[in-house]
Amino acid sequence: MKIQRIEAIPYAIPYHHPLKFASGEVHTADHVLIRVHTDEGVVGEADAPPRPYTYGETQTSIKTIVEEVFAPQIVGLDVFDREKVHAVMHRTIHNQVAKGAVDIALWDAAGKALGTPVHKMLGGWTDSMRVSHMLGFKPAQELLDEALRFGQEHGITTFKLKVGRRPLSLDIEACHVLREGLGEDVELYLDANRGWTANEAMEVLRRTEGLGLSLLEEPCDAKEAMSRRRLVEHSPIPVVGDESVPTAGDVSRELLSGGCNAICIKTARSGFTEATEILGLCTGLGVDVTMGNQIDTQVGSLATVTFGAAHQATSRRAGELSNFLDMSDDLLAEPITIQDGRISVRDEPGVGAGIDEAKLERYRTDR
Ligand SMILES: [Mg+2]
Repeated sequence: MKIQRIEAIPYAIPYHHPLKFASGEVHTADHVLIRVHTDEGVVGEADAPPRPYTYGETQTSIKTIVEEVFAPQIVGLDVFDREKVHAVMHRTIHNQVAKGAVDIALWDAAGKALGTPVHKMLGGWTDSMRVSHMLGFKPAQELLDEALRFGQEHGITTFKLKVGRRPLSLDIEACHVLREGLGEDVELYLDANRGWTANEAMEVLRRTEGLGLSLLEEPCDAKEAMSRRRLVEHSPIPVVGDESVPTAGDVSRELLSGGCNAICIKTARSGFTEATEILGLCTGLGVDVTMGNQIDTQVGSLATVTFGAAHQATSRRAGELSNFLDMSDDLLAEPITIQDGRISVRDEPGVGAGIDEAKLERYRTDR
């Protein structure tokens, strides 16, 4: 089954409210829908969410690299010869989100062609993931109100607090208010998106001691090598690499050099193929993984659940899967639901992310 043509369709869907964190702020989901068409009529689909302020990819760069650089070399290859497709894409460095979406679209096409759900092809460990909800920059009381509401409405019991603000006391106060208001049974962890220095992160750890925080993600720039290693050595909780480890090579460098001791996997920037390599490195070296969110749409969230639920190690912790609730609409034809704090995989061939064509027509920006 040959790849006949690849489409990269830019579209824009507004968020209900702007989302704010240390690395940036978003108002509209300016994403790209990737469609891999085959000569047998099977179409594989995936969402590409650009994050310009983190990775430098934009909607335009994703469309250009896919249509003008990758597609001319990939068209004509067999959908199942993924290794050949990756050999082409690996020649170009960076552009992880564009590569990830092409990869997921290939898996989707393969699953549809075989009549098999991709979560089964990947590993079939379980059929749902626990959901972790991300709390952005807000005053402490508003954060607590939001967490309580998500607990009541969706059954969510794990929260990631976005930190990295100055003065540090803003974030430290939020940790104390959340723990006090949510009780001891709720899991709480931090993501600073490189907003602090390593030494500031050490100070936050000291001043939040006893609050039972479970993880500290990307506290500072990983290039602060010496201070970061010292932080990782002395931290009582795992220090998670996220934007410092977009590729399997980055993961091995950071883990082996002591720059982090847990890894956030994002299918949006790794696809399923490189995410599998990253997961193998992590389980082989014995470090924890989390399934992260790239402010994914429902289409993207379903890809995360598909990979996360497929493996034992990725389904152990709650996955960051609730960002789609911030969007005013979505391209997914059959909406995702969070039930008792969980999102289920779809038992249909491929990833199961069927697109609503009328919505795609309404939101696409290339016409
Ligand atoms: Mg992160």
